[in-house]
Amino acid sequence: MASAALEWTSQDGVKYVSGLLANVGVPSILWGEYLLNVYGIPSIIGGIDFVVPDHKMPLAVATLKSSGLHPCPDLDACTVSGDSSPFPVPAFHMHIPGSEVDVSLRLHSETLWFIPPPNSPSSSKGEMAAKPNPHYLEASSPELPPWRHGRGHGAFSSSGSPVLVPRGHVLLEAFIRLASAFRDEYCGYFLNMVTYMSEYPFNDGLVDINRLSGPCRSFWDKREQGKLTVRQLMDNLQHNLGDDMDSRRKSSK
Ligand SMILES: [Zn+2]
Repeated sequence: MASAALEWTSQDGVKYVSGLLANVGVPSILWGEYLLNVYGIPSIIGGIDFVVPDHKMPLAVATLKSSGLHPCPDLDACTVSGDSSPFPVPAFHMHIPGSEVDVSLRLHSETLWFIPPPNSPSSSKGEMAAKPNPHYLEASSPELPPWRHGRGHGAFSSSGSPVLVPRGHVLLEAFIRLASAFRDEYCGYFLNMVTYMSEYPFNDGLVDINRLSGPCRSFWDKREQGKLTVRQLMDNLQHNLGDDMDSRRKSSK
């Protein structure tokens, strides 16, 4: 696919990047605003994010650099990596030529540290359907919503390279844990994501809250009851999760 003709922000663009990474042995999980759209959460697509295993990051970076994307012109001023970024800064990002949209790579240990990454990229269509993974789905899975007017992209078509996404309960678990792990800087952003998960995928029946961990289920239930303040909810959550991200990252080294 010639990069000049490639519509990076279409699902073909997402499949293309996922396929580039898979070709060099890097499994990737779709993340960020594009993923919200797959789950039927109305959201402007400002970026296309992928989560990759930490030890594969150098290879993933080298692959993106040779993909036809443009390097970031100014890391300090960029909304993705500068001080004004509304969410944690990705490990690496590039920009889609002639567009405001970025393609970002995020470390597994800073995003989905509570579950293992996929062992290897899905090489063929339907591999996940044949052997379901407890944590991930293909973006073309019939378990994901179809396109709906005003409700985002929905599931991908089954053509092209497979793209993996977190299951609904994993996405909710991640946002709750990230609100705790980044409480000082990005708590409000991730709590908004929890609200979106509640209003859209959960109401659509796409999130099995019985599969949340104990601390996150307790947070969810108390939040739904609406009796505690946000500060109390977050204090309880942090107490129950403990030194969540840091302890996992240390034990994985
Ligand atoms: Zn940038």
